[in-house]
Amino acid sequence: MTVTKKLLVLPGDGIGPEVMTEVARVVAWMGRARGIAFDISEDLVGGASLAVHGVPIRDEVIVAARAADAVLFGSVGDPKWASVGFDLRPEVAILKLRQELGLFANLRPAKVFDALAEASTLKPEVVAGLDIMIVRESVGGIYFGTPRGIETLPDGTKRGINTEIYTTSEIERVARVAFDLARQRGKRVCSVEKCNVMESGLLWKEVVTALHAREYADVELTHMLADNCAMQLVRNPRQFDVIVTGNLFGDLLSDLASMLTGSLGMLPSATLGAVDGEGRRPALYEPIHGSAPDIAGKGIANPLAQILSFAMLLRYSFAMEAEAALIEQAVANVLASGLRTADIMSPGMAQVGTSVMGEAVVRELDKLNG
Ligand code: NAD
Repeated sequence: MTVTKKLLVLPGDGIGPEVMTEVARVVAWMGRARGIAFDISEDLVGGASLAVHGVPIRDEVIVAARAADAVLFGSVGDPKWASVGFDLRPEVAILKLRQELGLFANLRPAKVFDALAEASTLKPEVVAGLDIMIVRESVGGIYFGTPRGIETLPDGTKRGINTEIYTTSEIERVARVAFDLARQRGKRVCSVEKCNVMESGLLWKEVVTALHAREYADVELTHMLADNCAMQLVRNPRQFDVIVTGNLFGDLLSDLASMLTGSLGMLPSATLGAVDGEGRRPALYEPIHGSAPDIAGKGIANPLAQILSFAMLLRYSFAMEAEAALIEQAVANVLASGLRTADIMSPGMAQVGTSVMGEAVVRELDKLNG
C-alpha cells in the first residue's frame, strides 16, 4: 500500500521537540514496514516561533495547517516568555489553531493500560481495563460567550461577567461526533450538562435527545448532571463509554478522567473540525500534557502520549485502524515488559529515558509486524 498523506508537524517548546523525535521513528517505521509514505512539513510554534519570528504562530503556519490532512502538535509554553502580553504568549499558538481551523470537538480517551493499573490513585480494581472517551465541545460555551469582562459598578466595586451560550447547531455537531465514535466503540453515549440550573443545559439535553431519536437510535443515550458525572468518574468510571459535554464541564471532567490513568505522559488527544464539501475534516492531534519546562532538555520525558496521539491521527484522520491498533499494542507490550519513564516508574521496573522508550516501541512494532 502506498499512501501519501500531508502531515504538518509542530513540535513547539520544552519537551515537545524531544517527544516528537520519538514519533518520527514511528512515522519512519510506517513508511518502511507498511508502505505508508507521509508528506511531512514542520514549522515553529509557541516560544520557538516567538524567538525567531516575534509571534507565537505565523499566518503561513495556519495556511499550512488548513492544507494538511492532519496536524501533529507537540506542546507550547516557555517560562522565558512569562512576561509578554497575553496576545503574544506561546500558548496563543494552539488557541489560534483551534479557532482558525474550527476545531470544535476535543476527543480525550482515558485508557488504562493493564501494566499501569497500579499507577492510578484509585484502586486497580476500579480502573483496570478502563477505556472511556470524553468528547468536549471546545470552541463555544462560557469561554467564548459574550458579554464578558470586568466592569466597575457605580459604588466602585467590580463585576466579572462570562456568558454560557450554546446554539442548536453547535450542540448537534459535537453530539454527532460523540454518536459516531460510540458506533465504533461500545455504542453508548452519556450526555452531560446542568439542565437543573442552566437554560443552556436544558437546550443541550433537548437537542441531543432529538438528534438521537432522529439519527442515532442504535446508540444507547443517557443523560447525567455534570456534578454527578464527576462523582461517577471517581466511583465507577467503567460505567461510561463515550461522554459528550460542553466546554467548561469538559475541561474539568476530562482532566479528572485523565488522572484515573496515572500519568499525563500517557494521554493523547484529538481535536476535530467539520467535514467540508470534499469530505475533508481538519484535525489536530496532541498529547494533553504541556511543555513540562521542569524536565525539558533532560531526556527523561515520556514520549508515549505523543506516540499515542499519532495513533489517534492514523485512526481518525486516515481510517488506518490496523496501524493505530498496532501502535497501541506496541505501547502496551513495552509497558508489560517493565520499561518505564520516570513519570510512571514503580518499584521493580526498569527506568529508561525518552529515546530508549521510543526505540522500544519501534522494536515492538517490528515484532508485531512479524
Ligand atoms: P505540564 O503538562 O507541562 O507539566 C505538568 C507536570 O507533568 C510537570 O511536572 C511535568 O514534568 C510532568 N509531565 C508532563 N508531561 C510529561 C511527560 N510527557 N513525561 C513526563 N512528565 C511529564 O503542565 P504545566 O507545568 O502546568 O505547564 C507547562 C507549560 O505548558 C505552561 O506554559 C503551559 O501553559 C503549557 N501547556 C501547554 C499545553 C499545550 O500546548 N496544549 C497544554 C498544557 C500546558
